[in-house]
Amino acid sequence: MHPLKAELYDLSRKNTKILDFLQDSSLDGLFYWNLENPGEDWVSNRFWQLLGYDPQVMNAEVVDWSAHIFPEDFERINKNVAKQKNDPTVPFDQVTRYYHRDGRTIWAKSKGILLPDRSGNYTRLLIASVDVTNEKTNALLLNKVQDITQIGTWEVDLVNDSIYWDSHTRAIHETSMDYSPKVAEAINFYKEGTSRETIRYLFNRAVTKGESFDTELQLKTAKGNFVWVRSVGQPEMSGGRCIRVYGVFQDINERKLNESKLINYSILQSKAKDMEQFAYIASHDLREPLLTIKGFLDVINEEYAEDLPVEMKEYLEIIRGGAERMDVLIKGLLDYSRLSKLKKLQFIDLDHLLAEVITDLHAILAPIDVSINYDNLPQIYGYPLELKIVFQNLISNSVKYRRPAVPLHIYVNCETLNDGWQISVKDNGIGIAEKDLETIFNLFRQLHNRGAYSGTGIGLANCQKIIELHNGRIWATSQLGEGSAFHFTIKTAVPAKPEAGS
Ligand code: ADP
Repeated sequence: MHPLKAELYDLSRKNTKILDFLQDSSLDGLFYWNLENPGEDWVSNRFWQLLGYDPQVMNAEVVDWSAHIFPEDFERINKNVAKQKNDPTVPFDQVTRYYHRDGRTIWAKSKGILLPDRSGNYTRLLIASVDVTNEKTNALLLNKVQDITQIGTWEVDLVNDSIYWDSHTRAIHETSMDYSPKVAEAINFYKEGTSRETIRYLFNRAVTKGESFDTELQLKTAKGNFVWVRSVGQPEMSGGRCIRVYGVFQDINERKLNESKLINYSILQSKAKDMEQFAYIASHDLREPLLTIKGFLDVINEEYAEDLPVEMKEYLEIIRGGAERMDVLIKGLLDYSRLSKLKKLQFIDLDHLLAEVITDLHAILAPIDVSINYDNLPQIYGYPLELKIVFQNLISNSVKYRRPAVPLHIYVNCETLNDGWQISVKDNGIGIAEKDLETIFNLFRQLHNRGAYSGTGIGLANCQKIIELHNGRIWATSQLGEGSAFHFTIKTAVPAKPEAGS
């Protein structure tokens, strides 16, 4: 033994100050347990203070020490003691949680040793503890931060050729929680192609040149899903060579998806704007030559009617019919392109608005056998003129596409959603084939031969545009031969004012 160590042993036997000094200055707690008679334990002043108690009071009476320990951890202590009794070489080393007087948790790292009592029986346990509450709280906090930010950590140990993934990294890879990858396997989680080649290159640069990396790539998870991750790596060099690369993984899938949605949305928006512009110019400019054609047809009719052969008159009638129809179409197109220019944002009582629409449609409703019911329609913020057009179109379509000889029933109702409402207009008309349910919203789309039903194919395109203006969507469901339902959603949030001029 080192002579100074021997001297210290001697001294500590004679001088109690030495043990006092050690327990006060280097440890946060020292306990000496009587395993045969728990409750007769001695606990150092420091530890009582750590738990928020006055040591004088606590050490003056016999206190059941175990009452201050989390029950599960107390059980572990008993198990560890039992292990040590069986085999004294098994180290007693555990992190134990205690109740602070004010209810907080105190974490202490404890090492223990079984000792013989005065009669030589191993009935004593001496435990030395260090307060690790801060470290534990920080680790828990870090874990929470990792949960929130979806960040996992990883490490490639190049000396031992091994990989470490924490639980978050495993979760991102959708592997089981006990999965530990081989170095060669890990790279195969990157999507074949650009992602895998990029990480191969960057990892190689990290190892050979000591360069760190921070990149966004795609993984194919153990369950076969593709997810976007931010992969950050940092090499650690020693003696001129890389001994490990460690870093973090962040799940950025949602952000990436939103980014691509945003890009698609702005492409769609600019396409819609182009389309609107085109519709406006085309319809505006087309009307002029059309008016010329109609004008000259009138002139021919008035001035030369008598001289024209009957056949020619018939042809002219056909031309006039075509020109009239073209006029209706162009007017519809013009309305469509102007739709987003009317706009007056208001608080609207939809019950009231629908009643007005029904009154306005009197001319087409009065001659037929029809009942219109509606209930529970909400009050919303929106564009009243435009919403009127929606109801007008849907109801007049129900009238137009009713089944002959069957009384028409139209039912308008509303369901409340988390972020708004879903309004449905249902009829018992001729219905729409499943394959046509989406295309009917396209501009000029009509399902029937001209002659069977009058129309332009613009009405539902208008409805779609108006509902989108309210940040909602519109779709149809139907049973061919039994009826159709048109559903649209309106968000609670007030729709944004469209840009001026759009
Ligand atoms: P249209 O002017 O032809 O009515 P719309 O855009 O309003 O144009 O409707 C497009 C097509 O959708 C119609 O031509 C019709 O075939 C079908 N449709 C619309 N509403 C109904 C309905 N309530 N029942 C059956 N078919 C409908």
